[in-house]
Amino acid sequence: MVTVLVVEDEENLLEALRYNLEREGYAVRTAIDGEQALLAARENRPEMVILDVMLPKLDGFEVCRILRRESDVPILMLTARGEEIDRVVGLELGADDYVTKPFSIRELMARVRNMLRRSTRSSATGDSAGVDVLRSGDLEIDSTSHIVRRGGERLELKPREFDLLALLAKNRARAFTREQILERLWGHDYYGDSRTVDVHIRWLREKIEPEPSKPVRIVTIRGVGYRFDG
Ligand code: CA
Repeated sequence: MVTVLVVEDEENLLEALRYNLEREGYAVRTAIDGEQALLAARENRPEMVILDVMLPKLDGFEVCRILRRESDVPILMLTARGEEIDRVVGLELGADDYVTKPFSIRELMARVRNMLRRSTRSSATGDSAGVDVLRSGDLEIDSTSHIVRRGGERLELKPREFDLLALLAKNRARAFTREQILERLWGHDYYGDSRTVDVHIRWLREKIEPEPSKPVRIVTIRGVGYRFDG
């Protein structure tokens, strides 16, 4: 059974999350402060952690930082509205994704399913060494041959476009900042600015999106960056 650890000090929200997760068949462990969260994570070894930012004792950022040193369990952070900086900080701490409060339970459950699907797949195949062909809808991304097909038709992608697509698609549902993308693809000592990323995203969208002006595969996360949704 897949275990999800929910860390939230607001009792109503905690119960709502527990109810919905259990209804989908997950085993749920809960914690109401940061110290409990660490103990519960070490004891129960959950497959995923849903972690509120504002918590008694240790806050969610601190918990995330410590958990990340100990394991690569997927972490979904719950942040309060308008905390743009907190969001980015949360991601840089090693959280895999975040949801802004107030959120709909439906959206949250979709994220949970997405994150668990992604982490099960990568652990089953040994992550980087494993997945050669990644499929998403009519898209097929082959990391061995660097060939991308859409509906069976081969797409002409420049090497950088391929790398960008592969990075985002392998980390499906995880938001990347422009800076993180620049660093991964162009390296630390690249002096360009983050608009370089936007330009490559635009080119990529023209090739892989059903309707490039209304992207559904690579979506823009306002104030943060980009995320591959499938
Ligand atoms: Ca809270």
